[in-house]
Amino acid sequence: MPQNMDISYILNQLGEERGDHYNAVAPPLVQTSNFAFNDVAHMRHSVNHEMDSHVYTRGNNPTVSILRQKLAALEGAEDCLVFASGAAAISAAVMSQVQAGDHVICVDKPYGWADKLLRQYLARFGVTHTFVDGREVDNFRKAIQPNTKVIYLESPNSITLELQDLKAVAALAKQHNITTIIDNTYCTSLLQQPIDLGIDLVLYSGTKYHAGHSDVVAGIVCGRKQVIEKMFNTEYMNIGAIISPLNAWLMIRSLRTLPLRLKASGEGAAKVVEFLANRPEVEQVIYPMHPSFPQYQLAQQQMQGASGILSILLKADSVAQIEKFTNSLDRFLIAVSWGGHESLVLPVSGLVYSIDELHPTLPWNLVRFYIGLEDPAVLIENIKHALETYRQ
Ligand SMILES: *Cc1c(COP(=O)(O)O)cnc(C)c1O
Repeated sequence: MPQNMDISYILNQLGEERGDHYNAVAPPLVQTSNFAFNDVAHMRHSVNHEMDSHVYTRGNNPTVSILRQKLAALEGAEDCLVFASGAAAISAAVMSQVQAGDHVICVDKPYGWADKLLRQYLARFGVTHTFVDGREVDNFRKAIQPNTKVIYLESPNSITLELQDLKAVAALAKQHNITTIIDNTYCTSLLQQPIDLGIDLVLYSGTKYHAGHSDVVAGIVCGRKQVIEKMFNTEYMNIGAIISPLNAWLMIRSLRTLPLRLKASGEGAAKVVEFLANRPEVEQVIYPMHPSFPQYQLAQQQMQGASGILSILLKADSVAQIEKFTNSLDRFLIAVSWGGHESLVLPVSGLVYSIDELHPTLPWNLVRFYIGLEDPAVLIENIKHALETYRQ
């Protein structure tokens, strides 16, 4: 983040230009698809310089532009684009860096649709891939081929919370002229700054903490101006998976409270982790900032904190017991996604009909929690009750 731009300035002032909008405190919601030109010369210039003009909302929109300025500044990035979803952000970021014949190295167990993009989609267009256990930097080194163009990271991932050493992987990639991309959704730029560690492109599901109220789906890609400009003129405008002005406006509103929400969610999660770590029913608690975490040292080195997702391995004899445990958590909604105000629970066994379908390295007794903004004491009481009854 530039020295003169503190977070409070970014979230409350940057890009708002209130003098141009009746000094309204809330930003304008410019709900328009189209923009008219003063004359033909203006039109000619605008359509030939779309990134710096207002032509049509699939390109630029003033409400979206305010949001972009704030998100890029939060990241300490030169620029960013905001998409219709995190999945669109993943696709645009990866596709902007590859062509037929290229190779991508991807960390094991990334977000499911990143996995599918490589295995099912880009494979059809002659882009090959290698998945590696990202806990060892050497695994990336060994997977590099002459045609490797991208190393795709997600640290921590959002189920098993494994980390990659971002500084070391970025340095390795630079030696080989490989672009590094990270899904930084778990931390947000408030808890981890990948660009400072040498990563090229940072992406997010904005649906999670950025929007934060379980009412908007959005994605973000941040990076160098030149890369973002090329992405704007290609993946952004061509695929057209743009954020709507209304959703951009809602995200600006959400950003005002991002630091408060992230702090409350992370502190709540830490309390729940403390409780779970001392329970005999829990085989293992998985949380990057807990001393029992295998990569605790690395977490402390490259993250400023952990957020609201934690997982446990629950001692159980059957999927039915896991199911009973989950069903009795009435202060948690059983749901995918996360980052909103409400706490959630997701047993991985609930994603499949047979546990054989689970990724071979995904334990069947893993239960993921997202801790929202409720009183942690209430949540802990609820978990305690579920632990006391799920084996009865
Ligand atoms: C939710 C999520 C995504 C996908 O984002 P959408 O906005 O749902 O498309 C990507 N990565 C992570 C880590 C996520 O949790």
